[in-house]
Amino acid sequence: MNPLQAANRIHDHTRLECRICWYVYDPAQGDEVEQVPPGTPFTALPAHWRCPQCDAEADKFLPLEEG
Ligand SMILES: [Zn+2]
Repeated sequence: MNPLQAANRIHDHTRLECRICWYVYDPAQGDEVEQVPPGTPFTALPAHWRCPQCDAEADKFLPLEEG
């Protein structure tokens, strides 16, 4: 899936789950591994960002259903 297409369903607060290892990226927490500060939306992650657990590309992530 093209990340830009997926971004249509991703809001600034949307958490996304890696479909390879089930790691969840939470914008409220950021990503210590890649030194992404808390409050960073998934869509604002660096282009080289990968899953910190399994090294999957960002397009392997799927949005979690909101509450
Ligand atoms: Zn992963």
